[in-house]
Amino acid sequence: MVRTRIYIALIASICFHFSEAVLAPTVKLNDGTDMPALALGTWLGFTITNNTEVRIQPTGHEVEDAVTWAIECGYRHIDTAYIYRVEDQVGRAIAKCIERGIVKREDLFITTKLWNDRHAQDAVVPALRESLNSLNLSYVDLYLIHWPVGQFENKTYDTTDYLETYRGMLQAKQLGLTRSVGVSNFNQQQIERIIKEGLDKPAVLQVELNLNLQQPSLLSYCKDHNIVVTGYTPFGSLFYSKAKAGAPPPRVDDPSLVDIANKYNKTVPQIALRYLVELGVVPLPKSLTKTRIQQNIEIFDFQLTQQEKELLKSFDRNHRTISQLKWLDHPYYPFEKN
Ligand code: NAP
Repeated sequence: MVRTRIYIALIASICFHFSEAVLAPTVKLNDGTDMPALALGTWLGFTITNNTEVRIQPTGHEVEDAVTWAIECGYRHIDTAYIYRVEDQVGRAIAKCIERGIVKREDLFITTKLWNDRHAQDAVVPALRESLNSLNLSYVDLYLIHWPVGQFENKTYDTTDYLETYRGMLQAKQLGLTRSVGVSNFNQQQIERIIKEGLDKPAVLQVELNLNLQQPSLLSYCKDHNIVVTGYTPFGSLFYSKAKAGAPPPRVDDPSLVDIANKYNKTVPQIALRYLVELGVVPLPKSLTKTRIQQNIEIFDFQLTQQEKELLKSFDRNHRTISQLKWLDHPYYPFEKN
């Protein structure tokens, strides 16, 4: 009798636990893989000290906690990279969530990225093996070339053709170390070169996408070629704390955005993410804050009107938050040079 009661209580608590989780829908990649339509970003970013950007270093388990909360509340897609120095934390969170029975490995979609100092074709597979070791996984779901720009460890330029790097990525896929391959921060011509070379099309392009940088022409090119676009820095300059001097509006208290948010009983950050979803983009919001992590996935239960989308479109200024101008004179620098 007691055992039956314990059993019922256990089932009830499991059901209650999972009823709180919000799962994102999935999108199909051109290689047949399903990708959840929203991911948790894991880059800690920069702080501004004496007018200089300083990379925030991980201090302990902040990303491990964030990934754990994310999986608990329904995220199944995590975006990380070798260069973020947090793959070990992501791996620990995944292992614990699997151990606790919240998810199985195959429920998760894990992305990581090849850093610029591993662009030689034969350096790609060992680089991915190193990432897998940190992540404590036998495969990732998506491996991306982080930038088309190669650099040696001493920061001098490596001008290895990214087509060679991409061949290394395809070898990694053949070995079963990643289910899909893609590119990040590539421009349209660079993607076109891969396709014209007759290599398997990238499944995904990851680029900056937010209200200030909506990239309509790149999105339409990717749609035509069946390449899914994942959007990084999805909040752009929305928050005063993150907006650089001179960054265009809107900020989070913009009255027109607040009106839309109030109408749906949502927040302005949720409206910004929902707009990307409606553009066909998979947003990658990063947060280390439990309540925000939960909030950022609750965007699949409403739809913006045409008029609201027109208003959101009007904030596009082709303004980049992440331009990496320090690489401007690299032959494969992908963005506008003016
Ligand atoms: P982001 O996600 O646009 O913004 C992150 C900031 O927004 C953090 O300060 C976070 O604060 C805050 N935030 C998140 N949700 C919020 C909410 N609901 N309300 C208020 N504030 C909120 O910026 P990002 O980290 O640059 O980009 C996201 C991810 O994209 C990265 O983490 C990374 O995975 C990927 N990425 C890729 C590349 C690439 O080259 N491929 C480049 C940049 C980023 P708290 O953390 O304090 O909550």
